[in-house]
Amino acid sequence: MALTTTRAVILQTYRYSDTSKILRFMTLEHGPCSAIAKGALRPRSRFGGMLDPFVEGDATLYTKEGRDLHTLSGFELVRERRDLGRSLRAYTIASVLCELVMRLAPEHRDDRLYGSLVAGLDALLDASSRNGGVGGLEHVWGLVSTLGFHPELERCLHCGRQIGKERARFDYAAGGVVCAECATPGLEAEELHALRRLARGEAAPDPDGRQGRWLADFIRYHLAEGANLRSLPFLRSLP
Ligand SMILES: [Zn+2]
Repeated sequence: MALTTTRAVILQTYRYSDTSKILRFMTLEHGPCSAIAKGALRPRSRFGGMLDPFVEGDATLYTKEGRDLHTLSGFELVRERRDLGRSLRAYTIASVLCELVMRLAPEHRDDRLYGSLVAGLDALLDASSRNGGVGGLEHVWGLVSTLGFHPELERCLHCGRQIGKERARFDYAAGGVVCAECATPGLEAEELHALRRLARGEAAPDPDGRQGRWLADFIRYHLAEGANLRSLPFLRSLP
């Protein structure tokens, strides 16, 4: 049995027995891990009801070689992010971030991925209190890129020529854009511009409300290996 303390974000929690919780974490030092928080559901638990998704803290874990489920012995709160629940949009996008990390994080330390997750959650938290319902998808695109799935948006996937200010088709199955000569076009020039901004991790206006669908289709095809993430339908129909 070894004792280790690491900065960690709670991705998901499950009730276990009447009094305990099982937590999925993304830790800074060891990548993703699972732990049981014994007694977390008791009224006077030392965890004080703070073990919820999006919460970040310094987790102290008892780890056992060869065991996947560790035991949480302490949790020092760093940031709670409870206000994400005040905006359905921010909450949905934050859930997508956590679910992607849970499914796709490599089984080792990944500072960039951890940083991308935390930056996205903080930006969503910030936005949820400010502007009520715009932006946010850029943080998922940022994470998608960190995971190594950045789409090709500069050159036609079929003929390879540079695509400038012109119509193009976003072929999510192929992983990028196809020029008008190679495909039946679907993206307007402004939409392509917006998609490029999002994929670089920058916010973009979404007058027609189509951006959630682009992202959901792209993730479903490339990152989720055909399995629907539970949160994807919500992303497709963002408020
Ligand atoms: Zn082409």
